[in-house]
Amino acid sequence: MTSLPTKKRILTGVRPTGALHLGHYVGALENWVRLQEQYDCFFLIADYQALGDHLDDIAGIRRSVIEVGMDWLAVGLDPERSTFVVQSYVPEHAELAMLLSMVTPLGWLERNPTLKAERERIEGDSEGVTTRGERVSVGFFTYPVSQAADIALPRAHLVPVGEDQVPHIEMTREVVRRFNRMFGETFPEPQALVGRVARLTGTDGQSKMSKSIGNVIYLFDDAATVERKVRGMYTDPTRIRATDPGHVEGNPCFDYHDAFNDNKAEVEDLKERYRAGRVGDVEVKRKLAAALNRFLSPIRERRAQYEERPQLVADVLVEGSRRAKRVAEATMAEVREKMGILYFK
Ligand code: ATP
Ligand code: MG
Repeated sequence: MTSLPTKKRILTGVRPTGALHLGHYVGALENWVRLQEQYDCFFLIADYQALGDHLDDIAGIRRSVIEVGMDWLAVGLDPERSTFVVQSYVPEHAELAMLLSMVTPLGWLERNPTLKAERERIEGDSEGVTTRGERVSVGFFTYPVSQAADIALPRAHLVPVGEDQVPHIEMTREVVRRFNRMFGETFPEPQALVGRVARLTGTDGQSKMSKSIGNVIYLFDDAATVERKVRGMYTDPTRIRATDPGHVEGNPCFDYHDAFNDNKAEVEDLKERYRAGRVGDVEVKRKLAAALNRFLSPIRERRAQYEERPQLVADVLVEGSRRAKRVAEATMAEVREKMGILYFK
């Protein structure tokens, strides 16, 4: 018997394709930490999903699973209150994904803008493959369906994510609605909740900060690495000399100042002088690196403690996955019954 949850549920997660970065923090993690108070949270490490475009780097996925666990503990996700889940340890994720793929029209995937952008990147990146249609796997193409299943399995109500994920949550609502209409009310229609910064730009100033693009500052970069990455950041491309009036909007250095610098007076002063052509990029960047290091240093210290105790992190992941599996088994029993996929007593 499963007892009804007293709190509403959250499911959200990351792909174990590398360490966590500043975009994860302001787009997602910060909300997750806060929401643990009010919600029964399931945090998923989506290793099956990562295979969609990382099949050639399973060793990297294996390393990242434990790394993500450490990162989560270091930023303040709490396994006493929340459930950390490894997707492949709960095979029901795959079963529900397969069933929901039957409910999902192909056109919903074809017109998904995030999927389209990611496909274009993969197709543009890969070399030595002759046929265009061979660059993206079926598993990658259908990952939004597997995400719908991830969310539906613990019957989550809320999905705190970055803006790039919003089309997937919209589709999840439609898939769930369709399932409920066909087979009876089974899953809640989940809402997306976007973080304080919907889409943090990467250090290249071009696109979303993303592991796959490599334009990232990791939460666990050391102080010298942060300084080096900040020195190499893009600023205002129209500005040639420090005495030229500069643009603050669309300038990733100022985006990061806004997001991470706790000294608001310093940020206002820099903006004013930048617009007037009275401050150089060097000072803006030096103050940014210092602010980022102030912000990151307590997280780094906690991370170091977990690095020394990998067994504790592994235990948290195994325990959480066990709890999630019990919840998943109950959902799947109901799904099979509602769909009438039961033939023998
Ligand atoms: P990959 O490039 O492998 O897809 P990623 O950097 O996009 O990696 P994910 O694991 O796909 O990271 O994303 C985890 C969560 O973090 C999602 O909710 C996503 O929306 C959010 N997120 C990732 N990057 C950013 C960003 N730059 N700004 C805001 N939110 C982000
Ligand atoms: Mg991503």
